[in-house]
Amino acid sequence: MVDLLIKNGLIVTMDGGRRIIADGSVAVDDGRIVSVKRGRWGKGKPDEVIDARGKIVMPGLICSHTHLYGMLLRGAPLKVEPPTDFAQILQRAWWPMDEAMTKEDAYASALISCLEFIKTGTTLFADTFSGPNAISGVLDRIAAAVEQSGMRGILAFEATERHTHAEGSRGTKENERFICKIRKERVRRVQGMFSIHASFTVSDELFHYVRELASRYKVPLTIHTSEGLADLYHNYERFGKRTIERLNDVGLLAPDVVLAHCVHVNDDELTIIKKTGAKVAHNPMSNMLNAVGVAPVVKMFSMGIPVGLGNDGYIFDGFENIRAAFLLHKVALRDPRAISPMEALEMATIRGAELYGLQNELGSIEPGKLADIIIVNPALAPTPIHPESVVGHIVNTVDGDDVETVIVGGNVLMRDRKMLTMDEAEAVKVARKSAEKLWQKLGAIRRG
Ligand SMILES: [Zn+2]
Repeated sequence: MVDLLIKNGLIVTMDGGRRIIADGSVAVDDGRIVSVKRGRWGKGKPDEVIDARGKIVMPGLICSHTHLYGMLLRGAPLKVEPPTDFAQILQRAWWPMDEAMTKEDAYASALISCLEFIKTGTTLFADTFSGPNAISGVLDRIAAAVEQSGMRGILAFEATERHTHAEGSRGTKENERFICKIRKERVRRVQGMFSIHASFTVSDELFHYVRELASRYKVPLTIHTSEGLADLYHNYERFGKRTIERLNDVGLLAPDVVLAHCVHVNDDELTIIKKTGAKVAHNPMSNMLNAVGVAPVVKMFSMGIPVGLGNDGYIFDGFENIRAAFLLHKVALRDPRAISPMEALEMATIRGAELYGLQNELGSIEPGKLADIIIVNPALAPTPIHPESVVGHIVNTVDGDDVETVIVGGNVLMRDRKMLTMDEAEAVKVARKSAEKLWQKLGAIRRG
């Protein structure tokens, strides 16, 4: 007897052999995958059966870097002088928003973000929240939304010393508090980590402090790295070092570190990343939006640096992000061979798990792993979908709207596009109400 059986599906396992199984079945019991095989299950009657005939069964997507609260900025008609570079984007859009955020805004943004993630096939994300006026206790509010949705999240408050040193330590203490609390409660779907905004907004003292805590609690540590040129210039001017050189010299880099972006890194810095075992979260759509440049991801692949895929708070549909990564490096290198469909898909699945040390639990469909599975029905695909074509279809055809069913830890969160864990209309209402107030504070709309 098993809890759940998915039968007749085209299974893209993303296991070690990257096996693709036609007409396959996946059996799930007590939240974990117990069998993946071709043909019928044939071992008694499961509690629940999902027939995936003509559909793709694949691991839930993993978003390696996001800011859920970015959702509230979507479409905001900010009345600011248009930024001319990344530093001005931070100064004129993101940082004023950080200042205006309340804990309830954080909750509202997490609620709507989880809804959009689930509806488009993402089952795990790594989020960092920033808001100097909403620090203490904010991760509990974000966790409440994630808990409600049924998906998985790795949460952190993004420590920065933009205003004062005390702000950096308060942000870090919020992470420590949350990590201790989560451990006591043994909540597994929601986890904590440490986060530093970027090297140009923190001191060496904060680096040392956070590094020590991440090692003590054995949780990941993430930091924006070499996203825009401001990072590089700051470190040159103050320390005479490139960004990765400084991070390495302060002893920050280790296998538990996830570096978001790494756009402005040279070959020597990549060698340091490789040597220290640090990993990279690539955010192609955000990099395009902010016009910061193109991360040398193909070089990272060739050096064996693990690269996951993030949205950086911009477009939450993981399939759009996969496609963007697939295309961006071809045009940047003017080489259509630059990145294969499988490499693009790996970033959003098994590599994403690897970034956070979860490769033995998540990121692929294989016995023993947690049952985070999505079923995709690209009903309008113009050409046959079979084992040889399916990965090409995932990268070139599938959209988030094609995701029919989402399962996390064996629980069905969405079935035939109907949400079972959340009230969609209510989540939209809560988010819009929060966004309206936030936009008023930012002067984006007239006060009513
Ligand atoms: Zn970011």
